[in-house]
Amino acid sequence: MDAEIAVDLGAIVRNAESLAALVAPARLTAVVKANAYGHGLVPVARALAPHSARLCVYELDEALALRAAGITSAIHVMGPVAAAELAAAQTAGVQLTLWDRGGYADDVAAIARRRGDRVALHAKIDTGVVRLGLDVAEAPEALARYAQTPEYELIGAFTHLAAAEEIDSTFTREQLARFSSATHALDAHVERHVAATAAAILWPETRLDAVRCGIGLYGIWPSEQSEALMRERGLALEPALQWRTRIVALHDVEAGATVGYGRTWYAARPSRIATLPIGYAEGLPRSAGNSAQALVRATRVPVVGRICMDMAFLDVTTVRDVAVGDAVTLIGRDGDEQITADDLGEACGTIGYEIVARLPAHVPRTYTNATT
Ligand SMILES: *Cc1c(COP(=O)(O)O)cnc(C)c1O
Repeated sequence: MDAEIAVDLGAIVRNAESLAALVAPARLTAVVKANAYGHGLVPVARALAPHSARLCVYELDEALALRAAGITSAIHVMGPVAAAELAAAQTAGVQLTLWDRGGYADDVAAIARRRGDRVALHAKIDTGVVRLGLDVAEAPEALARYAQTPEYELIGAFTHLAAAEEIDSTFTREQLARFSSATHALDAHVERHVAATAAAILWPETRLDAVRCGIGLYGIWPSEQSEALMRERGLALEPALQWRTRIVALHDVEAGATVGYGRTWYAARPSRIATLPIGYAEGLPRSAGNSAQALVRATRVPVVGRICMDMAFLDVTTVRDVAVGDAVTLIGRDGDEQITADDLGEACGTIGYEIVARLPAHVPRTYTNATT
């Protein structure tokens, strides 16, 4: 086993409880798309199910995996579902997203009619991300039509925010106003939901009936401002994931020696170089080369040279008694030192979201503190 991902489900549950308390009386729904942000879909969803009003995924396959695992919670598929998969979606009893007025909306109705059943729907409105959703101008008419279509059970209306990570953006208010104007004629029982984690924290007026939190559940902050505000209020989120590997070889090199492909790093002094058995195929971005850090024996050390497909290097010259087999922490704690997913993301020119979402599914995960 070259690497191991350890996930503390207790931390995820506590993060869910903190966020649920923050947003109440709005309901917390839990976003577990992208393999639960790399934390592992089924175990995470099982832990979150009792603590959230609904699980949100992007693809139908994710919803079907949850059903196959015996999870009976409400599940909202937020992304597109191919027409050929609609029957499977309805058999699984999942909630679908509708944002069009044409063929797809008709396909959904046709499947429901054939099965003699109604399909639960959330209408998506595009208020400024320009990704998926009805235009604001056409939304009232489309929503009225959805509400009157006997095969549809319109249970929700939602939008997604483009700039909720910063407090000084007026665009969030603008999007909220567009959403209100698009949905004002809807029945009060249709659930309105707009906020993801950042907005749920920074913009109380966006909480409406429910929020869709992803990143915060995993103890990763959506932005520095959200972290600062929560800390001010004494609310903490706990990182749930630790990513570790081991040293598989050590080399003592002379000053002037170079390490790795392209010879991008050279030893300014006699150095001890550790070889790691993971590379970009295991989720350590190539951009981590000569930039990221890792922890060995509670000491912070630099990643040196280019990341290979399946290997990488550390300069462990400063680590006393370093040995082959020593644990290497890429995300997590070792002694008093800690590296967060965001620290690694920043070193790689990206964000914590991308680092965890790209941790490959084939890396074994171990789970602690499961309560169910
Ligand atoms: C991913 C996603 C979320 C969750 O966002 P976080 O920033 O991770 O909380 C919410 N809503 C939609 C539509 C999403 O795609």
